[in-house]
Parts: sequence; C-alpha cells; structure tokens
Amino acid sequence: MSQKENTWIKSTCAYCGVGCGIEARANNRGTLEVRGDSQHPANFGKLCSKGLALGETVGIEGRLLKPQINQQDASWEEALADVAEQFNRVIEQHGKEAVAFYVSGQLLTEDYYVANKLMKGFIGSANIDTNSRLCMSSSVAGHKRAFGADIVPGCYEDLELADLIILTGSNLAWCHPILFQRIRDAKNTRKCKVIVIDPRRTPTCDIADMHLPLLPGSDVALFNGLLAFLSESNALDLDYIGASTEGLDLALATAFRFGDIESVQAVTGLDKTQILAFYQLFAASEKTVTVYSQGVNQSTSGTDKVNSILNYHLATGRVGKPGSTPFSVTGQPNAMGGREVGGLANMLAAHMDFDNPEHTQQISKFWQTDNLATAPGLKAIDMFNAIESGQIKAIWIIATNPAVSLPDSKRIETILANCPYVVVSDCMADTDTLRHANVALPAQGWSEKSGTVTNSERRISRQRRLLPSPGEAKPDWWIISEVAKKMGFGYAFDYQNEADIFREYTQMTTLGQKEVTDSVSRHGVCALSRPLNLSGLTELTAKQYHQMPPQQWPVTTYNQPTTRLFGNGEFATPSGKAQFIATGYRPIAETTTPKYPLLLNSGRIRDHWHTMTRSGLSPRLSEHISEPYLALSAQDAERYSINPNTLVKVTSRKGEVLLRARLSRECQSGQVFAPFHWSNCTTSMGKVDTLIAGHRDPLSGQPEFKATAVSIEPL
Ligand code: SF4
Repeated sequence: MSQKENTWIKSTCAYCGVGCGIEARANNRGTLEVRGDSQHPANFGKLCSKGLALGETVGIEGRLLKPQINQQDASWEEALADVAEQFNRVIEQHGKEAVAFYVSGQLLTEDYYVANKLMKGFIGSANIDTNSRLCMSSSVAGHKRAFGADIVPGCYEDLELADLIILTGSNLAWCHPILFQRIRDAKNTRKCKVIVIDPRRTPTCDIADMHLPLLPGSDVALFNGLLAFLSESNALDLDYIGASTEGLDLALATAFRFGDIESVQAVTGLDKTQILAFYQLFAASEKTVTVYSQGVNQSTSGTDKVNSILNYHLATGRVGKPGSTPFSVTGQPNAMGGREVGGLANMLAAHMDFDNPEHTQQISKFWQTDNLATAPGLKAIDMFNAIESGQIKAIWIIATNPAVSLPDSKRIETILANCPYVVVSDCMADTDTLRHANVALPAQGWSEKSGTVTNSERRISRQRRLLPSPGEAKPDWWIISEVAKKMGFGYAFDYQNEADIFREYTQMTTLGQKEVTDSVSRHGVCALSRPLNLSGLTELTAKQYHQMPPQQWPVTTYNQPTTRLFGNGEFATPSGKAQFIATGYRPIAETTTPKYPLLLNSGRIRDHWHTMTRSGLSPRLSEHISEPYLALSAQDAERYSINPNTLVKVTSRKGEVLLRARLSRECQSGQVFAPFHWSNCTTSMGKVDTLIAGHRDPLSGQPEFKATAVSIEPL
C-alpha cells in the first residue's frame, strides 16, 4: 500500500444535518475505510450506521460517467454549449422567468453559491429553489418572523447542559442518530428529563420519560396551551419579555382563546394529566431545549408550529443560553449552507433580503451586475406547477431526484416528461428524474468533491476530496460556472477552485455589516447587525481553506470557539427585540372520510437516505429494512383484513402504491406510516410520495408530508 493510500483524511459525512466529522483513507480496492473524527465537535469520533457504511457506497457502480444529450454520449463542450444556448434561447423568446433551477441540500456551499449567483445575479430571476424547501423552510420562516434572521441560536453542547429536552416532530434515534446518542449519554450522566411529542411511538421514545402521542397536526394547540399555562402560573420571565421581546399580548390572547386544558385535550387527543404533567415539568425546568424537525416543519401550519415553540421559549427567556434554547435540526448535510447563500427562492445570499434596498444595492455592486432579481421567485411546488402551465420552459435540476421526492410524484414525472428542456446534473446514471433529461451532466459525488457544508448548529466543516473522480465527472460549481461563461457572464464566474468561491462568499457576508469586533462577549454570546458574518475567513489562503477546522458562524476571528446567538436578549429585528407571533391552531389540510379512513405519515428509516441512490449501494444498510412497507396497528390490520407481511394496496386522493404490511405498536389505530425512500428504479412497488397531495404552508411553501388521508386493502 502506498503512503497516500495509508493517509487518513478528515472530511464530513454525506448524510444528515448533524454533520459528523469522519476520517477516511483509500485502500487498494479503490474504496474507503471510514471512521469517526474524534476531534470533530459534532460527533467526537462516533458515527451511526449510515456514516460507518460510507466506504461501501463509493466507486463507479451505477455512475453517470459522461455527459449525454438526448441519451447519447457527448463531450463536455457539446453539453455545456447546449445548456447555455437553450437557456439563452428560452430567455430571449419568453423572458427570464421562463427558466428555473431546482437544487439540493446535498450541494456544497460553493456549488450552491455559484448556482444562486447565476440565477439571481445574472439571469435576473429568483426561480431557484431547493429540496430544502421540503425539509426546513418552515423553520426559516419562523426564525425570520421571531428573530429577524434565520438563526439557530444554540449548539449541540446545549443538549448536554439541559435539564429538560423536548423532542417534537423528530424521530431523532433514526434520523439524527448521533444527536440521539448524545442525549442518551447525557441522560445517563446528568439525569435530564426527555419528553417526546409525536403521534408515533418511535424508537426515540426509548429514552423518553414522557411520550405525548398527540393527534397529527395539533402541535400549535398544545404549545399555545403551554404559553397560556405559563402565564396563569406566573412562570413568565417578565424582565426578559419587557427588555427583549414585543407582541406578547396578542400571542397570549390567541393562546388563551383555546388554551384551556379541556380545549387542548379535545384538539390533541391527549390525556389531561399528560398535558398538565408536560406543562408543569416545563415550568419547573430552568434549562430547556426543544429539538424539532420534519414533524413540525412538513405541515400546512409548519411556520406557526415553529413560532408556537419559539413563543414559549421567548416567554421564559430560554433562547441562546447554555442548555436553554429552541433547536431546529436540519435533514440534509448542507441545508443550512444553502440557506446561507440564498438557495431558497425567497432569500438572497448572505441572509440579505429582496425588500431591503441597501441589500440589493450592495449585492449588485459586489457582483458587478445590473440584472439582480428584484423579487422572490417560485418555491418548489409552484415551480413545477409553472412548468405544467407552460410558464417555465427550461429547468436545470441539480443533485436531487424530484420525480421521487416531491409530493404527487407521478404527476411530477409527467410534468418533467412534458417540459420542453430539462437538464439534470447527477452522480448516478439511472434515477427517475434523469430519465426525463434532455441533457445529463455527470457530477462529482461525496468523496470526490471538495468544499464546505454547514450543519444544524451553524458549524462550517470541510468536505474533502478522498478519491479520484470516475469517468468525466466534474464539480457542480465548475459545471455551473462553465455554463455561465457560455451564457455570456464569464467575467463573474472565472473561479480557479472552490477556495476562490468560498472566499468570495465570506466577503459577501461582510457587506454593510456594522462594527463587530467587540460583539463577542466574554460569555460567548454574540450580537451582530446581520449575524451571518464570516469576516474572520475573508483572507484565507487556499492552503488555509484546505486545512480549515470546523467552526461555528459567526466567524469574526479565525477558528473562534462555540458561539451562541441571541443569549444577551438582542435580536436581528429592526427594533432589536424578538417578536412573539400569534399562532392560531389550524387543522391539517386533509380529513379522513369513510372512503379514506386512515391518516398516512411518511418519513425516513434508520439506514436509508432520501431516494437511496447512495445508501442503496450498501448491502449492510439494506439489511435493516430491505423493502418499502406500511406500518399499521394490529387493530387496523384486523379491521381491514390485512395479514402481516402481505402486500397491501394504499390509496389516496392522488394515487396508489403497493407496500408490505408491517404490524407495529408505533402507530395508533387510525394512523399508518410509510418510508418514502423507494422508487420505481429499485422495486416494482410504488413510491410513497405518489400519495401525497402537496398541500403547503402558506408562508413557507413547505408541503404537508405527515398527514394524508388513505384507504388500505389487501392485494
Ligand atoms: Fe452521518 Fe448523520 Fe449518522 Fe452523523 S448522524 S454519521 S451525519 S448520518
């Protein structure tokens, strides 16, 4: 074995938003040995089953190795020219709003930055959205309403400092396993209490002191009730509220309207004693962290759910303090990084806003463009609706598989099939989306590409190149930049490497920032005019970039220690005060009927990831659960004559799929659960997102994946 093959290189896991550090070394079989990085602050050397199996998912099996035009191999020159010409032609004939990019939380920050710069800065449309819309856009909207900026105030260390941890809408044990292990270990050493709020009794409940199996979508009622209870019990932090917040009266009035225990009981379906026990434990626990994820976000009232959580934290002054904070955990490895560089259609890069003329002027000057988009673009579902209606005539899909993962996914396939021009950049050669591509562009994958990602606690880590690229695969930032050059924007996309892009992005975060040098106090608390500030990284050399250790933003001095935000009671709103938001309870969009009598919840399983294009390559990961299934209670199995392990037809108002029946004590009677990972590529059984209607939150645009009315019958 050569010296190079023997070297352990630090990088970051390819999967969830925990963002665990790994170390990897190439072996003489062309694959990787992978272990946890004991120095990475996210995981301190631990990895979950998916992270440990990363080495089994590299190689050229199933890879897209050459560019293709209409399924025929092409040179890079031909493919890039085709994309640039077709996009320019559509823009010339139909205007800039007739093109769109749909990107991904799996992109590196540098890739994301360049895609956003091309669409918003030079094409001049904001029609770039990301699959993170499906994942955490309700948290973004909630953060902006309450804090004035899309900020997760805390850090993972808070999980070890809390007296009480509330896990709501999160099967952390399967979806963020290392955070779950950190909480489990903390519980063993510090005896903190854990409450799980979830309609399902998931494996996360194994460490719960209390499980509240509320009815789907009733979270706002439960949390409004908590706010009302805290007020009635004189448990509000009035000094903090007076000094650091606005809007409590209206939020409280709304909470009181249906906040009595009987009303909460009626809406949530919870037992009165359970509700009171939760409220009393919260009031009595000074240090409290609420961790929330897709069960909160993926809802037609997702933004209100987020704000109802932030409300009770603000009411008790428990924001951004050691062991005390609300904590949104992201699903994807770089959902946070995408938010930072404007990957969502309604945001500009570096947390700047369309409706702030100073921001748009600063960005225009910085990018040297007179064509910056002036208004938010179309969010994910609206974007595909616009293709269907003919408004959008060319779309570039990068590092994501919407023909499986978007709601009503069979319809998405039809939309793509009828779209005049579809470009897909992907690592893999056969995905449900790629089949509809006019042009397919082979992208580098994890272990081949190099750049940065930001995890759920705002920690920027390097993903490093570990293996050579197969075939003609290229970095996404290079592909986008080359197209930009051929479209006529070459002067703005002349990057030599990913370090150039990162440096430009960090400089952008300093635009218009007020003096920040004194802002990090000795308490490790930071207040900035725009907290996303990377001024400590703007002068990085390429060598420093490649060696950069993980660090949390804001980074005002290189490699500064962990920083909480808002703990001093100063927020990023115009008044500097956090905003309470009145959150009235709204029921889920779909109701059960005699024809569709059950509510379907969908989500992840422990050992697979998204549409399985990577995790499906590991036989070890498929051993845990090897095929799509429907989890249902024994009562429902009996009621609908379903035998265990037989095929069951699941029908919604949108479609039908076949799934293997699995009797489970996880599900309450009347509710069923199915994972969404499988697609038609890997099984003749259907893809679950075919069933989902695509109802969405009016503020965030995030679809409701957790409550679809279905019927079931034996096959
Ligand atoms: Fe990777 Fe997430 Fe597992 Fe960590 S917890 S090893 S980031 S999948």
